[in-house]
Amino acid sequence: MQNNYAKIISGIYTDILSKENLGKVPDYIPEIAKISADKFGVAFLDLDKNSFVEGDYKEKFSIQSISKVFSLTLVYKHLGEKLWERVDVEPSGNAFNSLVQLEADNGIPRNPFINAGALVVCDILLDIFENPKQEILNFIRNITGEINISYNKKVAASEMENGFRNAAMCNFMKSFGNIKNNPNEVLDLYFNLCSIEMSCENLSKSFLFLANGGKNPINNEEILSSSKTKRINAIMLTCGFYDESGEFSFLVGLPGKSGVGGGIVAVLPNHYCITVWSPKLNLKGNSYRGMKFLEEFTTQTGESIF
Ligand code: GLN
Repeated sequence: MQNNYAKIISGIYTDILSKENLGKVPDYIPEIAKISADKFGVAFLDLDKNSFVEGDYKEKFSIQSISKVFSLTLVYKHLGEKLWERVDVEPSGNAFNSLVQLEADNGIPRNPFINAGALVVCDILLDIFENPKQEILNFIRNITGEINISYNKKVAASEMENGFRNAAMCNFMKSFGNIKNNPNEVLDLYFNLCSIEMSCENLSKSFLFLANGGKNPINNEEILSSSKTKRINAIMLTCGFYDESGEFSFLVGLPGKSGVGGGIVAVLPNHYCITVWSPKLNLKGNSYRGMKFLEEFTTQTGESIF
């Protein structure tokens, strides 16, 4: 380890805590709007099991779109390259909940990390598994060793009641034949996945296989082939932050995934995972402090994929 990660992380944490607090907790999911805006946690974990943590790193929060990485991993593992007939791998350059490209693209979403793409992935999950909700939980519980990770039924119900855009998107794709199941079942699975609650510590653990060529760092079992792992990291780099993916790549230089619950997970392949949580979001729906923290982190460590 050339870097003193503990010192760098605590220095940036203290600095951001006192200086940076812009952004807004989203209000379009009423249950999420209730979260205390000043929460701030960080968890770093590397392949040598070094762990450095700060603030609210143990508190569970709504992982929202970060769950799209877990659902993609399971579907890609089972379906292989056929998956890309249903969803593309191009950055959309549009908001995460945008519908505009779907008509020109015949109902094929630009990538699996915008909402439309994640809905198609959920549709496939329903075809592959008898009980996809349990399957996803088993995957996350196994990889973290945390059996208490679960869905927040209130958050899922709150989105089911208010998620009119997602419902429109799902029905629109159904009209193109790119949703096979009942749209309500697809939406129910999608909202439940978004409602999973995990801490920064849990998230860094659960993403570490993406820094380890697809192998579970605990027992070295293959979760995903190294080629598929490379591709998931590539999609995180190009599409993980919606229409701010270029900016994240430019400022931070790591593959990563954000969620409107205020979490961001970033991966340095062959080295580590780092998760930051702060609920106030910038205009693109990414954690304001999370972005600042990671920009500063890769600047001070001098480590990125570039
Ligand atoms: N559940 C949220 C939605 O569908 C997830 C979006 C996100 O985290 N970017 O709008």
